[in-house]
Amino acid sequence: MVVIGGGIVGCSVAYHLTKLGGKDVLLLERRDISCGTTWHAAGLVGQLRATHNLTRLAKYGADLYEGLEAETGQATGFRRPGSISVARTAERMHELKRAASMARCFGVDVEVITPSEAGRRWPLMRTDDLVGAVWLPRDGRTNPIDTTRALARGAQLRGATIVEDTAVTAIHRRNGAVAGVSTTRGDVACEVIVNCAGMWARQLGQLAGVTVPLHASEHFYIVTDPMPGVTPDLPVLRDTDGHIYVREEVGGLLMGGFEPVAKPWGMEGIPDDFAFSLLPEDWDHFQVLMEQALVRIPALGTAPVRRHVNGPESFTPDGRYLLGEAPECRNFYVGAGFNSIGIASAAGAGKVLAEWIIAGEPPMDLWDVDIRRVAPFQANPRYLRDRTVEMVGVLYAMHWPFRQPETARGVRRSVLHDRLAARGACFGAVMGWERPNWYALPGMEPAYRYSFGRQNWFPCAAEEHRAVRDAVGLFDQSSFTKFRLEGPDAVTILQQLCANDVDVPPGRIVYTAMLNRRGGIEADLTVTRLAEDAYLIVTAAAASTHNAEWIRRHLGDARAVLTDVTSAYAVVSIMGPRSRTLLARLTNADLTNGRFPFGASREMWLASAPVRATRITYVGELGWELYVPTEFAPGVYDAIAIAGEDLGLRHAGYHAMDSLRMEKAYRSWGHDLGGEDTPLEAGLEFAVRWDKKIPFIGRDALLAQREQPLPRRLVVFTLEDPEPLLYHDESIWRDGELVGRITSGAYGHTLGRAVGMGYVAHPDGVSDAFVDSGRWELEIACERHRAHAQLTPPYDPKSLRVRG
Ligand SMILES: Cc1cc2nc3c(=O)[nH]c(=O)nc-3n(C[C@H](O)[C@H](O)[C@H](O)COP(=O)(O)OP(=O)(O)OC[C@H]3O[C@@H](n4cnc5c(N)ncnc54)[C@H](O)[C@@H]3O)c2cc1C
Repeated sequence: MVVIGGGIVGCSVAYHLTKLGGKDVLLLERRDISCGTTWHAAGLVGQLRATHNLTRLAKYGADLYEGLEAETGQATGFRRPGSISVARTAERMHELKRAASMARCFGVDVEVITPSEAGRRWPLMRTDDLVGAVWLPRDGRTNPIDTTRALARGAQLRGATIVEDTAVTAIHRRNGAVAGVSTTRGDVACEVIVNCAGMWARQLGQLAGVTVPLHASEHFYIVTDPMPGVTPDLPVLRDTDGHIYVREEVGGLLMGGFEPVAKPWGMEGIPDDFAFSLLPEDWDHFQVLMEQALVRIPALGTAPVRRHVNGPESFTPDGRYLLGEAPECRNFYVGAGFNSIGIASAAGAGKVLAEWIIAGEPPMDLWDVDIRRVAPFQANPRYLRDRTVEMVGVLYAMHWPFRQPETARGVRRSVLHDRLAARGACFGAVMGWERPNWYALPGMEPAYRYSFGRQNWFPCAAEEHRAVRDAVGLFDQSSFTKFRLEGPDAVTILQQLCANDVDVPPGRIVYTAMLNRRGGIEADLTVTRLAEDAYLIVTAAAASTHNAEWIRRHLGDARAVLTDVTSAYAVVSIMGPRSRTLLARLTNADLTNGRFPFGASREMWLASAPVRATRITYVGELGWELYVPTEFAPGVYDAIAIAGEDLGLRHAGYHAMDSLRMEKAYRSWGHDLGGEDTPLEAGLEFAVRWDKKIPFIGRDALLAQREQPLPRRLVVFTLEDPEPLLYHDESIWRDGELVGRITSGAYGHTLGRAVGMGYVAHPDGVSDAFVDSGRWELEIACERHRAHAQLTPPYDPKSLRVRG
């Protein structure tokens, strides 16, 4: 196994590979251990992260670093002075409290404190303008170079070989998998490569045809001379509203930050000779951070600055790192793009990546950081550079629900985009696609006004939601990923991959999951049989790379070809009780229940176009998804818009769809479903066909699970109080005991309250009686709210409307 790159991430991967018993681990470093970005990091080891699993990994990191010196004999400089995050506004305080609630689920010590308590712990800080703070007594800081050396030492002690002054210059592939590397000192054959090349990882990925979308940016801090009142036990201070962090450094202060408009670097590639190097000082650019630091710590104004550090770090388009096996090349793994939290994240990332390599599958749900969430178009240097301007600041920006990137937009547009924009669409970005999230009401600007409460689009989504329930709504779902699988073996392959029975007559659509060997849900999709030997597979935009990889991985030498036909079809969904009336005005096809039942899919003439109409829904109403060849779509859309006018047709966006699907408890992959959740736990047994002639992958694991009481199950919650909102990651309490967390939430406009779904765990099993009894509460920003729990959908549980 060859690990490329001796930064903290590569050393952590080597450390954990050997800890798991991995043999023949060779780490190759171009120059010296830690010479890339690692050596000049500020060394903050915070534990609070944006999501549950990333927080879990960050906590593991702090715990590992604490014991590393005792284990390896190499000092790390790790200490736990704790950290304080302060809030200048009520909304920031709300964000901190939400994070605090989440962190407690993992046993991360966290306390909400007043400004004066914060001031007591950090005497040099001005506190009269603060709303509050959170205190994490176990947060740490470390010396990045020494910690990297300790990880390297740990790996060597268990048999890893570390070779410096050796750059990888070529990657060799055989039969779609890794075969070896060429280096400046000769060739090495290997079965596994781990690309931990930091900001060089994109260039290195290209050598293997692998997309690693990251871009370097300049990143700054200063260090002052010793200052009175600054002691080594001073906690790390984060004032994210001022974009800054501060910690003690040799009796002085180290102050750095995340400016809202950053300076991308290395547009022409990262120089080969860049080692223990820094970039030129830029005081003008640093000014925005300095001004804010003076607001918080007035004493900084008179402290002489000893060092100005400007070092490059790599950032990714969504601010999360890239981990896992690359979809383009078997056994080529990536651990890169750490967005300025690589020191804190390296331990956890290294551990799960090593486990992934040894087992050949991710050890837990890592979708947040999984490299299969990206697509090849994101390797475009221009896209990356434009997005990087924004991504540095995002780390400390408000993490508003539904926050949309402002840079690198308009990359992929539906053929209906301009028409929808003219109707007032406000777009959100997913996988580069611009998708209408909501439509502005008359007099409104189609632009987000963010908050943790009801955002400005709340009444818009409410009207769209009601139109779909009571009349008819139009959704542009062209961003759906669409594949054709064709060939004599297509049915056999799909029967192996799908938990449901897809050997249906042509003209039927089947909702199904694809499972891993553990029975976890790797993909959630619909499969339409087009002909004996042809299928249309439709899945979410965000899952396109992941699902294509999953299917291709299992094709082997089967006589079947998978083709991505996403761009060939626009998808217009017409949903609601009047959808039949509307479409009947444009087609001669018989749309009655007898001739066009739920689950049927037919080609027909609609207006002047050939269209595939499929009777299915994600919103819980009568409706059809129309697959329209792209060039016909504008004409079809125009005809529908006119035909629907007197029927109350409304354009509806993804926020309304979310609210509609939550009321119906339709699951969403990547949120409510993932590789760790089985269909039995997720309440999707109705989509499992146990008695298929060809057994599906994961069947044995499911059969074994079926014999036991289920230790965890997806439960649907509605809040009693109509006011609070649910997004995700709120904790679930039963009779005062923490039993789970919300995986997705939305406001249900028909129910008049927030709805959430989340997994509830109990060692003796989660029975129906367990769900029906007990006192349920959901914790939002450290406050608990009474909730009703059920296993069935709160809206139309018998699906009478869908079949109407
Ligand atoms: C100013 C600043 C402050 C920071 N502060 C913090 C902080 O407080 N906390 C925190 O968690 N993070 C912080 N970071 C981020 C952190 O430093 C990085 O995320 C982390 O060091 C990335 O580690 P890495 O191993 O991925 O990359 P690197 O350290 O860059 O390692 C990659 C290695 O790969 C080698 N390499 C490249 N190409 C090849 C090749 N072809 N063959 C062989 N070897 C190759 C390079 O020489 C390099 O040593 C900070 C970053 C900066 C710039």
